[in-house]
Amino acid sequence: ARWPFLLAVAGLLCIAQVGNARADTPRDAPTALSISALPEGVDPAAAAVTGGLFDAAFRPLVGAAPYFAKGAARWYRLRLTADWRAHSVPLLIIHNARFQPVTLYLPGDARGQTQYHAQSGRDGRFSRRALVFELPRDLRAGQSLYLRVPGSVKATPFSVGIDAEEAYHVRDTGWVRVMTFFEAVQFTMILVGLTLWLALRERLYGFFVGYLVPQFLYLLVSTGDIYLLPGARWIEPLGVRLLWFVAALGTPFALSFIIEFCEMRRIAPRLARLLSWLRWPWVVLTLTSLLPMAWHAGNSLQPDVGNVLFLLCAVAAITAVAVAWRRGSVAAGIFLLAWIPQSVFTALRAAQVLLQLPLPGWLEFGLPAALALSSLVLTLGLGLSTLQTRRERDHARNEARRDALTGLPNRRALMARIAEALIDARQTHRPLSLIFLDLDHFKAINDRHGHLAGDACLRILAERAQSELRPADTLARWGGEEFVVLLPGAALDEASTIGERIRRRVEANPFVAGGEAIAITVSLGISGYSRSSVDSPEQLIEQADAALYRAKAEGRNRLAVHPAYAALA
Ligand code: GH3
Ligand code: MG
Ligand code: MG
Repeated sequence: ARWPFLLAVAGLLCIAQVGNARADTPRDAPTALSISALPEGVDPAAAAVTGGLFDAAFRPLVGAAPYFAKGAARWYRLRLTADWRAHSVPLLIIHNARFQPVTLYLPGDARGQTQYHAQSGRDGRFSRRALVFELPRDLRAGQSLYLRVPGSVKATPFSVGIDAEEAYHVRDTGWVRVMTFFEAVQFTMILVGLTLWLALRERLYGFFVGYLVPQFLYLLVSTGDIYLLPGARWIEPLGVRLLWFVAALGTPFALSFIIEFCEMRRIAPRLARLLSWLRWPWVVLTLTSLLPMAWHAGNSLQPDVGNVLFLLCAVAAITAVAVAWRRGSVAAGIFLLAWIPQSVFTALRAAQVLLQLPLPGWLEFGLPAALALSSLVLTLGLGLSTLQTRRERDHARNEARRDALTGLPNRRALMARIAEALIDARQTHRPLSLIFLDLDHFKAINDRHGHLAGDACLRILAERAQSELRPADTLARWGGEEFVVLLPGAALDEASTIGERIRRRVEANPFVAGGEAIAITVSLGISGYSRSSVDSPEQLIEQADAALYRAKAEGRNRLAVHPAYAALA
């Protein structure tokens, strides 16, 4: 099974391709912004700032990015470096504001407009990749725009830029296209999982859906598409806590899925116990993530505890899955394949945010792409594991109907086949014969040559008898050294011929077992479907056995026919 691996590689190449195509570094705006800021902690009334009373206190930001200050609101002043001359409307674009409400004051406007990621009913022309404020077309260099950003749990940078509306639209649409594609892939996989769960009643698919749904929700919240759904008004007040909630919800579901998918309980029971134990703290985190913001604001515990715990779980899970993989679980191997790109991109994104590096296109799209890829690979993995379960079940079913020593159908399988053959004979008015076969003096052979040689003789007998039969005939081991041959379509004379052929074939050459030549003979008794009486499989066997008894009594190494069957012929 090398193809899941090839698929993963192909998927990664696609991600890289999509990322390259959408990487948007160039800004073709006709002019740039100069940014200055009031010192941290200075937060006067808006009217005073927009009235220009604090203009002398603004200090230019040179080479530094604007940021949300820890615990205190901050004012920025933005000015164009040259008059806006483009035909297109200028837009102020703010990236990485996350869930923070940002307020912009246009020249001569003391009221300000506020935007934030979770805001319902936002300007439908733009996606939620960024906060987008429309600026006046006649904006001049030197006119001041004021931006007020609230305090944050931690100092976090954001970016602010100016762009022409048309150019921004092109980029924005590209982003929407890519994100919608990944969302659609995730959503489709959820539907596939759900459908299979309902259709097959296989609980593993339920765990799969449980694993995918929080990831999908995470994607919806971070792209902001969730706020376009009806009823979004109700989740809007949760703000960033919704993202925490979904993230906290996802981990225990992922752990449960890993335990089930990789058959952890069977392959590595102690690791399985560790993983299932690690789910409990998340229940607490999921609940506390919904607590009012005031609870979180004072102590930045929630994301920190979440991140540390997540790291712990990720290490534990990867270790457990790798162990299961080393112990031969194919599912675990597939899971690693699906998960590694996802973890790598998560880690890179976290590093980018922590180190405050710019966000390249391949990284911005990498995570959703890796999520989509992972759900795809896992769906394939689920298919594989279902296939394997089916094979194991079929194998077990076959084994239950087979004799272990000779590989022939056993008594149970034989009785079912006789019953079918009887129905068939009754419907088609075709004859049906049955031969009961028993090795002569087999106890003595066992005593002289040993039990193992006896076993070998049974196998050789099975081969020889089988080679005298047609494909439609059934040779079965009744038990011990007794065999039964079922001959559909064969009347007495034909059955006698076949029985006689088997008898001679056994007698003609001694069996070679354990380096010794063993002379063997068999006795046979024949019965058959008589059309008149109430034939049953048991009766056919009984009559053939009775005939065999006569063959033994008459001196063995011969064939006898039950009188009822002989009379019929
Ligand atoms: P008869 O000609 O009257 O059939 O004599 P017999 O010795 O073949 O009959 P009996 O029923 O007395 O003994 C059957 C023997 O077959 C007893 C047992 O040791 C042997 N036997 C039964 N099953 C197996 C088996 O699976 N392997 C081997 N090696 N021997 C078996
Ligand atoms: Mg016997
Ligand atoms: Mg015998």
